[in-house]
Amino acid sequence: MDSQPAPHKDPLTVLKSSFGLTSFRPHQAEVIDAVLSGRDVLVTMPTGAGKSLLYQLPALCLDGLVLVISPLIALMKDQVDALQKRGIRAAYVNSSVSSKKRRQRLEAAVSGDLDLLFITPERFRSPSFMAVESRLHIALLAVDEAHCISQWGHDFRPDYSRVGLYRKRLGNPPTMALTATATERVANDISTALDLVNPLVVRTGIERENLFLGFEKIFLAEEKLPHLAKRIQSLQGPGIVYSTLIRDLEELHDELARLGIPSLVYHGKLSPEERRAMQERFMASSEENPTIILATNAFGMGVDKADIRFVLHAQVPRTIEAWTQEVGRAGRDGKPSFCETLFFPEDLALQQEFIRWANPDREFVFSVWSVLESWGERVATKDMDDLTSELLLKNRRDNRAGISLRWLEVIGAIEGSFERHDLRVNPAFMPSDLPVFVGSTEKLDGDLRGLLKLAMLANSEERCLRAGMAEHFDLEVPDLPCGTCSSCLGADTWIRREMSASKIIHALPPPSSMHPLKDPAPAPFRRGNWVRIGQHGLARVLKVEGEGRRTRVTIEDSASLKRRTIDPNRIKLRVIEN
Ligand code: ADP
Ligand code: MG
Repeated sequence: MDSQPAPHKDPLTVLKSSFGLTSFRPHQAEVIDAVLSGRDVLVTMPTGAGKSLLYQLPALCLDGLVLVISPLIALMKDQVDALQKRGIRAAYVNSSVSSKKRRQRLEAAVSGDLDLLFITPERFRSPSFMAVESRLHIALLAVDEAHCISQWGHDFRPDYSRVGLYRKRLGNPPTMALTATATERVANDISTALDLVNPLVVRTGIERENLFLGFEKIFLAEEKLPHLAKRIQSLQGPGIVYSTLIRDLEELHDELARLGIPSLVYHGKLSPEERRAMQERFMASSEENPTIILATNAFGMGVDKADIRFVLHAQVPRTIEAWTQEVGRAGRDGKPSFCETLFFPEDLALQQEFIRWANPDREFVFSVWSVLESWGERVATKDMDDLTSELLLKNRRDNRAGISLRWLEVIGAIEGSFERHDLRVNPAFMPSDLPVFVGSTEKLDGDLRGLLKLAMLANSEERCLRAGMAEHFDLEVPDLPCGTCSSCLGADTWIRREMSASKIIHALPPPSSMHPLKDPAPAPFRRGNWVRIGQHGLARVLKVEGEGRRTRVTIEDSASLKRRTIDPNRIKLRVIEN
C-alpha cells in the first residue's frame, strides 16, 4: 500500500475554516492542488475571478512562507488587513513601512512566524532584504500581476523585468504567476522569464455575461460631455468614469454638479492621503447611496468592490488589456452592469503621444544619467523639476524622465530618490548596462500596435466584441454572438432591458439641459423604430450614430434577423411605426 503521509491540511477544510467560503470557484481547486504538490503554475483568469485565494490558501496548508510579489503598496495593505482580520499571519514590507518595522517583519518571516509576506520587487534591491533572503524558508513564490514582467504586456515595469533573477537568488522555489490579461505571447514570456518548469497553465475566458460591453462612436469633441452626462443620469451607481486627462475629469465634475449629481475626482496629482480618502468614500458607497468617481487609470488596481454598476471611458484606453482590466471592475456581484467606451478618433493621437512618452529611447536615458552625474554632490539638493527643466521637457505629461530614473535605479546606476533628498549616482555605471530592449523601437512599435488593435476592436461593429476579445487573448472563440455587447445590441436597448428596473435616482432635467453644449438636431430615427428599407422588407432600428451626413443606422432585418449598419443618406429608410 502507498503509505505516503498527507503532507498538508485539506484545502476544502481550510477554505471553510479560515476563509469562511463554502466552495471553490472554477479552477481554484485544480490550481491549489498543483501548488500543494510543488508544481509551478501560470494562471490567467479575469479580474474578480478569485486569484488571490490561489496563493493565500496554500499559505495555510504548506510548511514555510508564501512570498508574494505585488506591484502596488496600496494593494498589499488592503489584502494584509483582510487576512489579519481572519487571523491569518500576514505582513507586508515596503517603502511605506518604517525601517524598524521592516526589520521586525523580515525577522518574523525568517523565524517562521508568518504565513504570507507581501513585497514589491524593488525590495530585492534593499540591503536589509538581501541580508535575510537566504534564510527565508519559501514554500511558494507568488508573482501577482505577472504581465508586468513582459515587455509585450500592457503594463511592463522595469522592476518586474528582474523578477526572474530574484527567483534564482531565492533558490528557484515553486512559483506561481498570476495575471488577468495575457495573450499567449505574454504568457510564454512570463513563463520563460521566470524559468517555470513544466508549469500547470490555466487560462480562462472573459465570460462575465452580466456586463454590457460597448463602444460608442463620437464624431465631435463637444458630444462627449453630454453623452457621458446622459449615461450617468440613466444609470444607477456606484460607477467609475475613466479619462486620460485630468482636465476632462474636472469639466465632467462641473457638468455633473450643474445637473445636481455629485462626483469624486481621483488622479495622480492628488496627495496619497487625498487619494486614499477618495477611494475610501467610493468603497463605502452602495446602490442605495451611490457615488460616482471620475478617475484617471491611476484608480482601480486592487479596488475590490462588488457593486460597481458602470464603468465609462471618456477615451479609448491604450490597449485591449487595459480596457479589459478596467471594465472588469464592474459587476463583480454578477448583477447587470454597463460598460461603455467613447471612441473619438482624435483620442488615438493623444494615446500615441502617451505611448511615446512611456518609451524613452536609449539616448534619452543616457542623457538623464549625464545630467545627474554633472550635478555631482549637488544631486541630493535637486528635484524632479530641476531635472525636467534641464532636459528641456515642456509638457507636464511627458513622463520620460520618470521612466528613465526607474531604469537607472533598476540597473543600479542611481540609488535613493529626489523625494527623500538622498539621490546618489553610481560612477561605475556604464551605458551598456541597460538591457538591450530598453528604448528599442520594437517595444515602442509593440505598444503602438496594441493601441491599433483596440481601435480595430472598437470599430468591428459587425463582430461580437467578446469573440474579438477571445481572439485577441488566444482563447477559444465562442460560436454564438454574446448578445450583450454593442455589436450585438444597442446600448439603450440593453439599459432599458437590464437596468430600467433600478430606480433612477437623478430626476431627469428637461432635454435642453441634458445637452448643454449643443442643441441636437431632431433625429429622424430612434432605436426601436420599425423601418421599411427602400422598397423591401421591414427592420428594427438597433442603433443610430452620428448626425446629418454622418448618420449611420444599425438595423436588424425582421425576416433574416441579420444586422447591418447603413447610411440612411444612401439607402432610404422610412419609419412606419414609432
Ligand atoms: P482577482 O485577483 O482574480 O481579481 P480576488 O482574488 O481579488 O480576484 O477575488 C475577488 C473576490 O472573489 C474576493 O472578494 C474574494 O473573496 C472572492 N472569492 C474568491 N474565491 C472565492 C470562492 N471560492 N467563493 C466565494 N468568493 C470567492
Ligand atoms: Mg488580484
